[in-house]
Amino acid sequence: MYGDDIASVLISEDEIAAKVSELADLVAKRYPADAPEGDLLLVGVLKGAIFFMTDLAKKLTIPTQMEFMAVSSYGSSTSSSGVVRIMKDLDKDIAGRNVLIVEDIIDSGLTLSWLLRNLSSRNPASLEVVTLLRKPDALRTQVDVLHVGFDIPNEFVVGYGLDYAERYRDMPYIGTLHPKVYGGEA
Ligand code: 5GP
Ligand code: MG
Ligand code: MG
Repeated sequence: MYGDDIASVLISEDEIAAKVSELADLVAKRYPADAPEGDLLLVGVLKGAIFFMTDLAKKLTIPTQMEFMAVSSYGSSTSSSGVVRIMKDLDKDIAGRNVLIVEDIIDSGLTLSWLLRNLSSRNPASLEVVTLLRKPDALRTQVDVLHVGFDIPNEFVVGYGLDYAERYRDMPYIGTLHPKVYGGEA
């Protein structure tokens, strides 16, 4: 549907589905279904995590509730600075809740470490992270991640929620962009 904009398929639709099921099993084992803290609260980071979040929630065998946050990190469109601004905050108080942040991708880890500090100051009962993708740079930042779907090479990827200039989120798989899309060579 995007013609030859996509240079390669990095992770297919089937591979994503299998991994989401695997992650859902691991997450469900971690949280008791009848915890005194109430239902597990999934916090999705808009917009990149939407597909992962909804697919994960559907596969989870424990009841969950969903909240969304939108943050914007100052910096260029393809790298982040770690200076984060809240564009949309959570609707509900998370104090005393079991919170699982659902992330699309961790690159430098700066966005996530800021988010962890911000959310932990709201006194949740527990705070963990599940991310579908992780890039090599993330290993240099100290962020504790409960589960990682795929460790990927240091390439810019799109699809399954991830965008370039708001495009390509709707692709059912994860791929790399042809350099011509960035306005570079053909
Ligand atoms: P970090 O703060 O970890 O460097 O950046 C995290 C955010 O940068 C992600 O939530 C995502 O919005 C964006 N990002 C990082 N790498 C990629 C990538 O390869 N593709 C896309 N589409 N966004 C990315
Ligand atoms: Mg994200
Ligand atoms: Mg983006």
